Amino acid sequence: VWEQCVRQLKGELTSAEFNTWILPLQARADGSRLRLFAPNRFVLDWTQKHYEKRLVELCTLFSAGNLVQIAFEVGGLEHRTGGSSAQDRANSQPAVPDLGERRASANLNADFTFETFVEGKSNQLARAVSMQIGQSPGTAYNPLFIYGGVGLGKTHLMHAIGNVILATNPNARVVYLHSERFVAEMIKALQHNRIDEFKKIYRSVNALLIDDVQFFAGKDRSQEEFFHTFNALFESRQQIILSSDRFPKEVVGLEERLKSRFGWGLTVAVEPPDLETSVAILHCKATQLGVELSDDVAFFVGRRIRSNIRELEGALRRLVANAQFTGKPITLEFARYALRDMLAAQDKQVSIENIQKTVAEYFKLRTTELLSAKRSRSLARPRQIAMALAKELTKHSLPEIGSAFGGRDHTTVLHATRKIKSLRESDAGIEEDYKNLLRRLTS
Ligand code: ADP
Ligand code: MG
Repeated sequence: VWEQCVRQLKGELTSAEFNTWILPLQARADGSRLRLFAPNRFVLDWTQKHYEKRLVELCTLFSAGNLVQIAFEVGGLEHRTGGSSAQDRANSQPAVPDLGERRASANLNADFTFETFVEGKSNQLARAVSMQIGQSPGTAYNPLFIYGGVGLGKTHLMHAIGNVILATNPNARVVYLHSERFVAEMIKALQHNRIDEFKKIYRSVNALLIDDVQFFAGKDRSQEEFFHTFNALFESRQQIILSSDRFPKEVVGLEERLKSRFGWGLTVAVEPPDLETSVAILHCKATQLGVELSDDVAFFVGRRIRSNIRELEGALRRLVANAQFTGKPITLEFARYALRDMLAAQDKQVSIENIQKTVAEYFKLRTTELLSAKRSRSLARPRQIAMALAKELTKHSLPEIGSAFGGRDHTTVLHATRKIKSLRESDAGIEEDYKNLLRRLTS
């Protein structure tokens, strides 16, 4: 009966409410009563106040009238895992849920930790700052804003911070949420007339981690709600951590007041890894998968797969799976063969990211500078070249290219391609740069 109630409530409540209030409950039938055990007084009071009526209805329904009463108690079932005598004593005292449970209700992934995050020049600052915030949330930098391209470790770092906060503060309430989930949960709360509970949950955490805030673009009601949540947390000095694919001021479709708040604390970038870091990451992931990777294979993969760390991992997984399947050792030759499709596809299809990265390297700039709003000549020209290359080498439309270049307008891209075309005819230096870049990108 209880399982049916839980299933039903899962559909009715937002997952934050469900995880916070319903999931920690344990149940046992006792005559016509259902005894519900809450881990502590706080959860007990809240669930009793807000859900008792609905719970009684559901119990009555699913038990066909056999269970018509609910008794709330603090504590747990005796046969729960953990020391039994301690458990008995805890019956009248608040029992602290274990780390695993707390991690689950915070939506945190246990695998994303600082231990599994390889340090390199590309992420050094972001990692150091993240570690500091993990140790003293709410005091050092608020909010922390991490930005950078896809697959470069933003989500990993956020989880790592959340995991440290949870592990070091047994009472801390942490919530990690992708911004799309935030929007979905808010809509669900609105539909079920539970917006007050929604507000309460997010405004009562000690650390709120919202991933990929660029997805708030154009969602005005969510931005409004998030604005108030932000203010409440900020004023009570609770930690806020945000991520995005670009610098706060450059997130398109976001209200000005949010953009400016996002920049109040500290903003750090994660950049694409250099070769050495890629190789170190490959070794680290291989160890996690229980295989050993030789240096020549690691360098081969690291050199060939330059776009991002997620792809690097994909290549490694494929290697390991192939090796296990065929029972062969992972030699350089094996790697070349096993990854041939992946490398061929990558060679054929130059990505915008790859163009940006190559152009940035060529002109000794950072990719983030290339995507920034800055218009100085030393940035504008390489940016135009990169856009022209994107038009020439990829199938992306002008608006798509514009959006990949820090959310620029398609007319900007069009202007860039025309400008570069005419400069290549009049300026031998530009022509040479362009040719060099073409060669690098297509060879
Ligand atoms: P993003 O959120 O920036 O798109 P993710 O954090 O999801 O990127 O990272 C993509 C994958 O790469 C994840 O599996 C993550 O564990 C891994 N990864 C990223 N950076 C590192 C790093 N420095 N060390 C180890 N693994 C990393
Ligand atoms: Mg991410």
